[in-house]
Amino acid sequence: MSIQTLVGEATIPPKTDSLAASPFDTDSFNEAVMSTYARFPLALERGAGCRVWDTQGREYLDFVAGIATCTLGHAHPAMIEAVTRQIQKLHHVSNLYYIPEQGELAKWLIQHSCADRVFFCNSGAEANEAAIKLARKYAHTVLDIEQPIILTANASFHGRTLATITATAQPKYQKYFDPLVPGFHYVDYNDIAAVEAAISELDEGDYGVAAILIEPLQGEGGVRPGDRAYFQRLREICNETGVLLIFDEVQVGMGRSGKLWGYEHLGVEPDIFTSAKGLGGGIPIGAMMSKKFCDVFQPGEHASTFGGNPFVCGVALSVCQTIEKENILQNVQERGEQLREGLKAIARQYPQHLTDVRGWGLINGLELQADIPLTAADLVKVAIKEGVLLVPAGPKVLRFVPPLIVSEAEINIALQAVERALAIVTA
Ligand code: PLP
Repeated sequence: MSIQTLVGEATIPPKTDSLAASPFDTDSFNEAVMSTYARFPLALERGAGCRVWDTQGREYLDFVAGIATCTLGHAHPAMIEAVTRQIQKLHHVSNLYYIPEQGELAKWLIQHSCADRVFFCNSGAEANEAAIKLARKYAHTVLDIEQPIILTANASFHGRTLATITATAQPKYQKYFDPLVPGFHYVDYNDIAAVEAAISELDEGDYGVAAILIEPLQGEGGVRPGDRAYFQRLREICNETGVLLIFDEVQVGMGRSGKLWGYEHLGVEPDIFTSAKGLGGGIPIGAMMSKKFCDVFQPGEHASTFGGNPFVCGVALSVCQTIEKENILQNVQERGEQLREGLKAIARQYPQHLTDVRGWGLINGLELQADIPLTAADLVKVAIKEGVLLVPAGPKVLRFVPPLIVSEAEINIALQAVERALAIVTA
């Protein structure tokens, strides 16, 4: 079955009359919901494939995909089938018992990665928290480090819990939330000398570097791919010193890069890695995976009530199997190439405004010139009016993360909308 057929098969859900009758009441929404997001003035109510509709029936091409999450787009038949089957059968019981779907999903992940063991949770931040806890226990019990330190990279993003905002080396996410969690140290991304210096300088008394937590491609930090030579040297350093190498694959993993895992682009394997976002295709699930040698957790040391329940695991397994069965990685590679070529052609037309196009597969960034007032958020607002949803990655990078089933025609429509948006903002 071709990708186009699959998209075509998605049934378009009916309009919700109560919502469609009048413009969405953003004031009453804002009265009730905490203002943790600066929302675009758009209320979405249904979707099919790579298209979504707002409450007034306007159609958009969705190149945000729930921020790199809706792997199979919206209302995909495989997800509808899995959600329906699983909710009718069993949705939640707790990890007090064996959950067959959890075991099946873990086995699929192990068969398709370098991992030997999986722990399930509900989000990317939780998966990273689990990795941080595992690394700390490994440091105490195996490396004999009393005060373990985890190195992370400047401009990284690892989540919004206290430990993961501390791991996230961007002051804007940490402001007002101190005291932060001790035991983190920041180095520049793609700078091997900084890592070498930190490991030797921090090895003093009870202190020592236990792990390096890093994204194979920095997503929120501006869609910056890791440098192959840097990551290969990181792997060598970790082999030589016993420091654990942890990859945050939350945004780039599960096929988004055109390979199942971002680390496959870099020719190195981590000791521990995390996944979330695309893993469940939009159903909340996270996973922390490790090699056998560093699986040091004992019963009771880490847990999650919802983590790995029958519902999310049954649906995520169906997402994984669909990626494989439908050869979706090939689509990601081909459509990614098409998108980057199109964006490069646009960047050549606007040298005063655009400076770079970069990414892997279907995670791509279009960078704006630093010294002009135009921001990525300004462009997103105009692109929405032109019928395409996009999301910034930092102030100056426009991010393109469509569903992995996006078609050739849809990429062309999005490119044309970006061209129109640029013509408008630069006029
Ligand atoms: N790690 C990376 C690389 C991410 O991009 C994100 C979210 O954008 C997270 C972790 C946090 O994931 P979540 O929002 O599911 O907690």
